[in-house]
Amino acid sequence: MRALEQHSWCNPKAITRASGISGQGLFAQRPFYKNEIIAIWGGLIIDLAKVTRLTAAEKHQCVQIADELYLWTGDVEPRAADLLNHSCDPNAGMSGHFTVVAMRDIEADEEVCIDYAMCDGSSYDEFHCRCGTRACRGWVTGEDWRLPAVRRRYRGYFASYLAKRLEIPQRRLEAIASGPRELSSSAGYAVAPNGTTLTTQTNLLSKWNYTHTATGDVETARMASMTIRRCLHSENDKTAPTARSSDLDKTRR
Ligand SMILES: [Zn+2]
Repeated sequence: MRALEQHSWCNPKAITRASGISGQGLFAQRPFYKNEIIAIWGGLIIDLAKVTRLTAAEKHQCVQIADELYLWTGDVEPRAADLLNHSCDPNAGMSGHFTVVAMRDIEADEEVCIDYAMCDGSSYDEFHCRCGTRACRGWVTGEDWRLPAVRRRYRGYFASYLAKRLEIPQRRLEAIASGPRELSSSAGYAVAPNGTTLTTQTNLLSKWNYTHTATGDVETARMASMTIRRCLHSENDKTAPTARSSDLDKTRR
């Protein structure tokens, strides 16, 4: 298989040439309309452990595609699709994990750029930006996707895994808003390691933990788990092993 020719795809309306931002860049040879596919990335999928062993230059040829997975093209010559430069005021964005689309109509001769905050959610490859736009952040980090202005501007154009991360606060707000209903109907439960009866507070916290784990709100679930452990610890110190059978039945399903 000719990996050089098959690891990515670039819309033939785009060409590569020298860029004022950095080295070679991808330019529109003919106009793109909003949401038109410009490039689809391919490459080797590697984990964070492999990324940490790459040289700085090799890391430049990575893009993050999941929480701990990266797409790497450093084992082959860069293709046109791999030469997309970063801009803090881009005209293109992500669709799914690998696909670059026009975020607005793009005129002929414009350089096609994405903001790496749309796809990078870790600090493996941070850099000084030379995009020269008024929106330039100067130092581009793996945490930029969290910035409120970035989140607002790129809504709908983040890589899928980042878009999912960004849903979490909204889900938490919805869970809080509907908390009493969820708690009364939740199948969540808790029991101390020694089988003791738990206080109402601990059971409620356990149900919160169950609810947020079920909805994928990992951060809230983790915080709830820590609180539950603290409650269990204090209850074990003061509660005799007199669990009601109905409570224990719930824990053994
Ligand atoms: Zn910039």
